[in-house]
Amino acid sequence: MSTPVPSARAVPIDAEPGVNRRTPHQDDARQRGGRLSQAVRSWFGKEEANDASEPSLFQQIGMFLDAHQLEPTPPHYELVHGYLTKVDRKLVEAVDRAIARLGRLTPETAELILSEVRTDMSAEMLAGLIDKAQSGLTHIAGLARQSGADAKAYGQALETKVADLKGGSPDETIAALVELTGSMIEKTRSAEQQLRDAGKQMNQLRGSLAEARRLAESDQLTGLANRRAFENRLRRAIIQARETAKPLALAFCDIDHFKQINDTHGHDVGDRILKFVAQRLASASGNNCFVARHGGEEFVMLFEGLTADQAYKIVDTVRVDLEERRLVAKQSGEPIGRVSFSAGVAELSEGETGRTMLRAADQALYRAKQQGRNRVELAG
Ligand code: GH3
Ligand code: MG
Ligand code: MG
Repeated sequence: MSTPVPSARAVPIDAEPGVNRRTPHQDDARQRGGRLSQAVRSWFGKEEANDASEPSLFQQIGMFLDAHQLEPTPPHYELVHGYLTKVDRKLVEAVDRAIARLGRLTPETAELILSEVRTDMSAEMLAGLIDKAQSGLTHIAGLARQSGADAKAYGQALETKVADLKGGSPDETIAALVELTGSMIEKTRSAEQQLRDAGKQMNQLRGSLAEARRLAESDQLTGLANRRAFENRLRRAIIQARETAKPLALAFCDIDHFKQINDTHGHDVGDRILKFVAQRLASASGNNCFVARHGGEEFVMLFEGLTADQAYKIVDTVRVDLEERRLVAKQSGEPIGRVSFSAGVAELSEGETGRTMLRAADQALYRAKQQGRNRVELAG
């Protein structure tokens, strides 16, 4: 047990129940990939099947994943999509090199290439693919339901017929007919069952795709929503605020002297601090507050229904809470000391867009930095 520091709380940053708990582990991702693979691959094969001439990009991605025995996980979609559409010369060259060297693209090499050449565009493209897959699935699920209903009606009609025949004079022909019809009923029942199973599988796949979408919208390190998710949320929140005439505020937060923390304690400790700060900011979320990692050591908080003054109070409470802690690197026991952030808060006003709102908050943040850091400034 460590001795408590009287004036400040000593926080071994590894021991905190960080928000990264919610970050899915890589093994989970592999498992998910495994569950997805069969269904997705079979579906990839079926999409636009009536166009026999040229496989669609969607099918090409499926074929590539299959040929290289890659699970259809979001990062693999991202990589193969980038490769096939040649969005990035470096990416194409790296994949070609890996194939030339190893004969195929292995999951390990794919991971390495992705970490080297990540593009912002890729998240958009992945989301596009997911949308397409989802609408396709909805369509197929509808067809399956319809066929199921048709099959059931057919089965019922045949059953009625058999009952009629049984009631009439039982000569050999009728007996044979009854037998034949009975087996048809059986077949119909089994087809109906198969359709029901297929429908169930498709629903499961839809759930997996929703999970893939969630992954595409979350930040891997901190488990918070990422910038893309934030921008979508902001767009919706602005529309809602206009419709309901309720206030909307946002805060731009930036860790102070983070480069120095990295330089002094190393990148890994830096990463853990990012998770820790993310967790502190997330602790303020809940009622009408949405927190996201905007990138690097910058975070954004969106306050729906709150004015800038109300948002200011919440952000400042988190700032004070953080400044009172003294962080310790858990592994080495080395003191890191105080970690703080600065923030700028802006409120939505007439004729403003998400972009102008973010700019106003960023300008306020800049002022907070200029005025000595570890403080929150209001825009305007
Ligand atoms: P200021 O108080 O003015 O904000 O100074 P700063 O040092 O925080 O700002 P600067 O923009 O100079 O440095 C930000 C640093 O954040 C540089 C970059 O290496 C680091 N960084 C960005 N993303 C990550 C990450 O995911 N992990 C780690 N460990 N460091 C990161
Ligand atoms: Mg910064
Ligand atoms: Mg900074």
